[in-house]
Amino acid sequence: MAVPLLDLRAQHATIREETVAALLRIVDAQTFILGEAVVELERAVAALSHTKHGIGCANGTDAILLAMRALDIGRGDEVVTTPFTFFATAGTIHNVGATPVFVDIEPDTFNILPAAAAAARTSRTKAVIPVDLFGQMAAVEQVAAACRGLPIIEDAAQSIGARRMVDGESRMAGEIPTIGTFSFFPSKNLGGFGDGGMIVTQDDAIAERLRRLRVHGGAKQYFHDEVGYNSRLDALQAAVLSAKLPHLGAWSTKRRENAAYYDAAFADLAGTGALTTPFVAPENESIFNQYTLRVPGGRRDALQTFLKERGIGTSIYYPLPLHLQPCFAYLGYERGQLPESERAAAEVLSLPIFPELTRGQLDEVVAGVHAFFKK
Ligand SMILES: *Cc1c(COP(=O)(O)O)cnc(C)c1O
Repeated sequence: MAVPLLDLRAQHATIREETVAALLRIVDAQTFILGEAVVELERAVAALSHTKHGIGCANGTDAILLAMRALDIGRGDEVVTTPFTFFATAGTIHNVGATPVFVDIEPDTFNILPAAAAAARTSRTKAVIPVDLFGQMAAVEQVAAACRGLPIIEDAAQSIGARRMVDGESRMAGEIPTIGTFSFFPSKNLGGFGDGGMIVTQDDAIAERLRRLRVHGGAKQYFHDEVGYNSRLDALQAAVLSAKLPHLGAWSTKRRENAAYYDAAFADLAGTGALTTPFVAPENESIFNQYTLRVPGGRRDALQTFLKERGIGTSIYYPLPLHLQPCFAYLGYERGQLPESERAAAEVLSLPIFPELTRGQLDEVVAGVHAFFKK
């Protein structure tokens, strides 16, 4: 039995009627740009993330870019972030004209080290971007406390609906920072039928600025206070996402159950040090956008090849940390400089974790991993 890394058709089969009906309502109304469908999703995502405002935009990358523009970040500025993330987190820093400053990660959660972020601060630092990697929130409140006075942009592309206990209170992904950003790329836990993104904030002035920036920088049509972008959330996507949103909680629960199943099944291998199962900090509830093993001792690639031959899909998120990417050579980082990010890149392997996995598929993955280590 083949087990793909992600099977979007399995999920679609369970919600086909409601998503297609939602699409048809937009098609029949012929209201494609912004409008009521987008406003409805903005309200729902703001409510989910305990924030005052939601601002839809074209994708999760633009959400980060627009967030920086709304904070007046540009040429000559520095923005501190993690190198162990999807490219967009730092590509956007470059694209607003600022300089990415990379700091290392906590080896257990793979998320940015708050103390390292604080230590990298200079007079030019204008923001910090923690990333909630693989569905587990970064220590956003600790980053904010360590970098007191600096705006925080939480890249929550992989963590919509994730929570974290802070001072005895449950806080949602996107709730704590100055600005939180989400992606609705199809492989995220809440994925559209194409690209989409959302920005959340508690700040009225920032929200108003973001609503202008996504429509070429003009609050009034054809009058432009500043140069913005064409970055709107498509009404068709918003309608699909609103139809899917009520299922998000159950899907994330199923992902956590699948993760617990793997954790138990791999406990023996974890005990011998052959691999490490994902660590979720006790204060966190992860949405497991990925279930990511560490395979030390240079055996990761061999395990991936072995599983591939058995029809099991896996992926390496991410094989080369951003401080070592050719496009960032101009920043002058060297191998060895951010050792935990580099070690993670060499050891991680993500297994199928999507909610619709059957017991048989889970057992197939478990058997494949065990067979490799028994060789
Ligand atoms: C997916 C992702 C993005 C970008 O989202 P897009 O919608 O694909 O532009 C940004 N950051 C992280 C961490 C992501 O996983």
